[in-house]
Amino acid sequence: MGSRPHSRVSRAARWLRVPQSVSLIGDALPENPSPVLCVVHDAPDVRDLLADDLKERFGRQYEIEAHSDAHTALEALRRHASTARAVSAVFSADTEACGGEAFRATVRELHPHARRVVLVGRGEWSKAHPAVAALRSGQAESYIFVPWVLRERWLYLPVSELLADWEASQRPDVEVVRVIGREWEPRTHALRELLSRIGLPLGFYRSDSPEGRRLLERAGVNGTEAPVLAFRTGAVLVDPSFDRVANQLGFATTPDEHPCDLAIIGGGPAGLAAAVYGASEGLATVLVEQEMVGGQAGTSSRIRNYLGFPTGVSGRDLTTRALEQAWFFGARVVLSRSATGIAPAGAGYRIELAGAPPVAARTVIVATGVTWRRLGVPALEALRGAGVFYGAAASDAAAVTDAQAFIVGAGNSAGQAAVHLARTAASVTLVVRGERLAASMSDYLVRELEQTPNVRIRLRTEVIDGGGAARLSHLTLRDNEEGITEEVTADALYVMIGAHPHTDWLGGTVARDELGYILTGEDLTNQDSHSWPLARPPMLQESSLPGVFAAGDVRHGSVKRVASAVGSGSIAVQLAHIRLAEMARSACH
Ligand SMILES: Cc1cc2nc3c(=O)[nH]c(=O)nc-3n(C[C@H](O)[C@H](O)[C@H](O)COP(=O)(O)OP(=O)(O)OC[C@H]3O[C@@H](n4cnc5c(N)ncnc54)[C@H](O)[C@@H]3O)c2cc1C
Repeated sequence: MGSRPHSRVSRAARWLRVPQSVSLIGDALPENPSPVLCVVHDAPDVRDLLADDLKERFGRQYEIEAHSDAHTALEALRRHASTARAVSAVFSADTEACGGEAFRATVRELHPHARRVVLVGRGEWSKAHPAVAALRSGQAESYIFVPWVLRERWLYLPVSELLADWEASQRPDVEVVRVIGREWEPRTHALRELLSRIGLPLGFYRSDSPEGRRLLERAGVNGTEAPVLAFRTGAVLVDPSFDRVANQLGFATTPDEHPCDLAIIGGGPAGLAAAVYGASEGLATVLVEQEMVGGQAGTSSRIRNYLGFPTGVSGRDLTTRALEQAWFFGARVVLSRSATGIAPAGAGYRIELAGAPPVAARTVIVATGVTWRRLGVPALEALRGAGVFYGAAASDAAAVTDAQAFIVGAGNSAGQAAVHLARTAASVTLVVRGERLAASMSDYLVRELEQTPNVRIRLRTEVIDGGGAARLSHLTLRDNEEGITEEVTADALYVMIGAHPHTDWLGGTVARDELGYILTGEDLTNQDSHSWPLARPPMLQESSLPGVFAAGDVRHGSVKRVASAVGSGSIAVQLAHIRLAEMARSACH
């Protein structure tokens, strides 16, 4: 056992220069005992070395425990669960003494947020290695190679990453902003979602709870029904618009007056990639996003198939890093502004924005992505944001604690959401219209779902109705095979049934396919109805307006993946360079 770790609250408060006794908005957060890192290995030399190395780096914040077998480890883990002591990670060898799959399954039940790390011998790259199966089926979250040899690279870096992930799943030590509002109320939900997109440590307080009432009173807004944001700086915003929140956080919400080389509309992976490449290659670049950057990817709890992240990366981490990168390269990022129209102006284009002056740009990349299709059940539409959600938010795991959650959909995003929400929900039911999941979902996810005890899959079933007073309380499901209709208790419904492109704002200015996706390159020239004004053919990703490109999901025929959105965003920048050179040449003539 290590010496008593230092208080995390006091360190954070010191850093924020907030007196510990008053914390942020007047309340001291409770001091929790330090979380546990648990090592289980039957080989004493590896066990002791790992525990010692972990202690050396993490011993001030975490209690390091070492056990020789699964039995004694589980005794300790049960004790921690009974006293609500947090366990951040459990490192275990894949030997019989360490309990293998059954041990990891029990760890998950006892400590749903603990990262389960398999210790893998170097040189054991065979596909049959139990660690491969454990990671693929979601029975483990990470791995460490033994021996780790270079401690910084092979031990401390991966452990720091997995602890950062774990920390994001916990109530923060210090709340930079507090949201006080009604649970399941749509505006409150939207604000929480917006703030969680940028990973800001936030606390949520129900306005009808004693704590919530006290905070409202202290902020001088007691009695309000509207959501309230109380920032650590002392600023209080009552039912703020997104642009007020963005301003409060220091983001720009208006573009510069000068024309830019490249305007990017949409701040998902495609738009962010275009901003990074455009700005890094010296183009005066403006990115306009209607909400907070991240797009769909920003709502994904874990992206496991993005190159270079063998144990996955949260969508929020990936996209906030990209935002920082774009900013460091000099891109101007304008948040909380929707593009509402585009028209030729001079040699380039003028892009109208809602609530802000237009952007003048020589070239444009449209990366506005897609939005989820509606279920079309009026009773459920009325409860949107009040228990009914489109797409799954990474921030929602805490909101469904002990709840009966339902997900409609059969794609990878629905599968990921089910795995993620199952960590905290009492049960997660995946409602699938088709006969099997394998047709639309990756094999690794299907396996993971099958092995998650509180996930139920209902095939050949549809949600046909539902309701609730102020928020969702029940759903009506129809089993299409048996022809049976059933009412079930439901606290939350996530609808993930396909997408509609965000292109209505383009009106008739840009050629689109029958579903609204933007036609580019060859697809454009195959359409008779739209004339192309230049002698050369449109470039790959170029729309019916020369110099206006489409990137990511919004493009006709796009592969709806993060990597392809990033790839097409960067290719579009290359094409913008070609167009700028072409414009420069014609200006000389
Ligand atoms: C829950 C979930 C999980 C997923 N998991 C994976 C995964 O594991 N692996 C994978 O490869 N893919 C995954 N995907 C798919 C992937 O996230 C998308 O393919 C990718 O985000 C597409 O990027 P994009 O930039 O083209 O569009 P989007 O991500 O849709 O971003 C478009 C952006 O444009 C903004 N916008 C729209 N209209 C306007 C306007 N008029 N003005 C200004 N801004 C506007 C939107 O607010 C949004 O931020 C997942 C998707 C979801 C929803």
